[in-house]
Amino acid sequence: MPDAASVLIDGSGHLQFSYSIPPHLSGKVGVGSRVRVPLRTRQASGTIIGLESADIDAARIRPLDSLIGSDPVLTPKLLELAHWISNYYYAPLETVLRTVLPEAVRSEAQTFKTRKVVRLLADLEPGELATIEKRAPRQATVLQQLLETKPHPVLLSDLEKDGGSGVCRALERKGIVGIEDSQVHRDPHASEQFVPSDPLTLNADQQTAYERISDALCPPAGRSEDFRPFLLHGVTGSGKTEVYLQLIRNVIEGGRSALVLVPEISLTPQTVERFKSRFAHMQDQVAVLHSHLSQGERHDEWFKIHRKHARIVVGARSAVFAPLENLGLIVVDEEHETSYKQENPPRYHARDIAVVRGKLENCAVLLGSATPSLESYENVRRGKYTLLELPRRADDQRMPLIRVIDMRTESRRNKGGPSIVSERLRIAMDKRFDEGEQIILFLNRRGFATSLVCQECGHVCECNHCSVPLTFHRTEERLICHICGFQRLAPSKCPECASPTIRLAGYGTQKVEDVLKRLFPDRNVARVDTDSMKRKNLLRDTLNAFKAGKIDILVGTQMIAKGLHFPNVTLVGILNADLGLHVPDFRAGERTFQLLTQVAGRAGRGEILGEVVVQTFTPHSPSIQFARHHDFTGFAEQELQFRKQFQYPPYTHAVLVTVRSTHEARAEFSMTTVANRLRKQIGPEILMGEPMPSPLARAAGQYRFQLFLRAPSATRITASLKETLDKLSFPKDVIVSVDVDPYFLM
Ligand code: ADP
Ligand code: ZN
Ligand code: ZN
Repeated sequence: MPDAASVLIDGSGHLQFSYSIPPHLSGKVGVGSRVRVPLRTRQASGTIIGLESADIDAARIRPLDSLIGSDPVLTPKLLELAHWISNYYYAPLETVLRTVLPEAVRSEAQTFKTRKVVRLLADLEPGELATIEKRAPRQATVLQQLLETKPHPVLLSDLEKDGGSGVCRALERKGIVGIEDSQVHRDPHASEQFVPSDPLTLNADQQTAYERISDALCPPAGRSEDFRPFLLHGVTGSGKTEVYLQLIRNVIEGGRSALVLVPEISLTPQTVERFKSRFAHMQDQVAVLHSHLSQGERHDEWFKIHRKHARIVVGARSAVFAPLENLGLIVVDEEHETSYKQENPPRYHARDIAVVRGKLENCAVLLGSATPSLESYENVRRGKYTLLELPRRADDQRMPLIRVIDMRTESRRNKGGPSIVSERLRIAMDKRFDEGEQIILFLNRRGFATSLVCQECGHVCECNHCSVPLTFHRTEERLICHICGFQRLAPSKCPECASPTIRLAGYGTQKVEDVLKRLFPDRNVARVDTDSMKRKNLLRDTLNAFKAGKIDILVGTQMIAKGLHFPNVTLVGILNADLGLHVPDFRAGERTFQLLTQVAGRAGRGEILGEVVVQTFTPHSPSIQFARHHDFTGFAEQELQFRKQFQYPPYTHAVLVTVRSTHEARAEFSMTTVANRLRKQIGPEILMGEPMPSPLARAAGQYRFQLFLRAPSATRITASLKETLDKLSFPKDVIVSVDVDPYFLM
């Protein structure tokens, strides 16, 4: 019997102490238990991360105070995973545990919700109801309802809704009914109806993929040396989701559990519905985790998993830590999505964590995408992952036809500068309307205009706190910063030279919506972006209206780029394909290729061949040309050559060190000091750039400097960094952050 516990104190970074286990907690606490402990003169909370026995002199250490909640909340495997993340991503274990155990679970304030329910205690004698009815008709109504739902209890508030209060209490006094507290589950999807869906007959490619992965599922994965994730490369609409669904059924029938990760942005009502519907017969065993849950809903969904009531979890990034046991399969859909990377500490990548967890739990891991990340594709080339392919659409429809429109010639023709909707796109749209078909237009930029520029002196209105231009938002009539949210009224003359010729330049989705309403006055246009979709359920309602044909044109940002399936959409327009291309990021080409391919995949998902119109000023860029020919392999081979030549990931691991401070000189000095010390330490296998201002040189009032490092292994870099940083101390206002395998290089 262990007699002491090692506790990591909340909010402390690294504080860790041993406490003895008092008799009243003996046998009740374990690794992963949340506890209250004495800490100097106060009380603190923490997590047990180890148990100790024998040698500890229990009399000399203080005892644990009490347990928070009931059973341990962290499984040993998840704790092991947390240690791995802490080491790899250079983050304190305590910070990692905050992510692994969400606040809704850690917090003492969140508990199960109980409500009063009424239950029939005994059967009624024949004729008893009639007798009661004469004397107390309202009591009879209540009894009638309870008889109908027998043996299930009914909420007290429902029974007394229109009958007035006290009716049930009267029945309770007579001993006919009992009133008790019952735990209610706050189910985010309680109000929705899910129609059961049957498995489809898999086509030959799907069947092959299904069988290969099934073989890895049983007998259960085998020795960990054999562990090898699958990469399912299937074009958009090839039926990857159907393969996931059938594999999950297989896993569940084998008595194990399954975890499906999807990017937050494609965790749309449509996606949830597909999983909930397929498993409608066991719906309460499906848990959904995403960022729009209330704390109470998250708490309840989490414990539903922890108590083994749910065996299928569908969720976004942090669901990779869902407390499932006996995992059989982890699916990462759209594995290339950068939203799997968390941008604050611990800066983990959920796809990579899924692979690590799969290895720890000895289960199968399936990464799926129409545009695999070059990291995963390179792992296939090295024989670390098994590649499976679905090269055709499930409905045998051909891939959509992609037309590239050169906006340089378009703007030469158009005297007022380039138009937002080119003539050829407008004609294509008209034709689709005549056929009663629908259109999606994509622009990855919200707002109305991207900046306010003085025509006289060239002054651009920038944010007071960040080094970016302010975006004009028409609905608010304000300039808004997309980095920090700062807002101000749009000036009517130039703040610099007082010239009144200050004009809006560039355009965002609000402007597109405006233009479309003018171009097509008889058509219904709906805009989907984070500005327009703030109200809860509005996205779901808009998508439903679009599906029902009440909307002709859906215009939006990346919120509509993924995972949507509308058979009547035959034309997709990409208004400015260059937006992501000219940014200082070695992944710019890859991102553009992925985005174009994904957006194009929304077209022609029904009977009619789809068409995609891509507007660009750089029609010959490889990302656009390879996307146009649906040639992932061609793109990947060329891009990998470039990465290899310049030693970028996946041929190296990168680490980005950023130093921020409100004092520019202090930030710069600290960054330079780190770089100088580091340079003396590192061997030739680490490539180190010069310290320099970040491309986003100022954000939310802080100046930013960065240092970009590369090496064959990330831990090589972080080990050297640790040695350097441990010896340095920085002024209070200087914040040093370390991002391992960074995706946001600004
Ligand atoms: P992906 O996830 O690869 O984008 P989906 O799973 O969404 O593709 O499939 C696209 C469409 O094809 C869906 O409407 C789906 O119901 C249908 N589908 C998938 N597999 C089959 C199949 N074997 N037979 C018929 N239709 C299928
Ligand atoms: Zn000016
Ligand atoms: Zn700002």
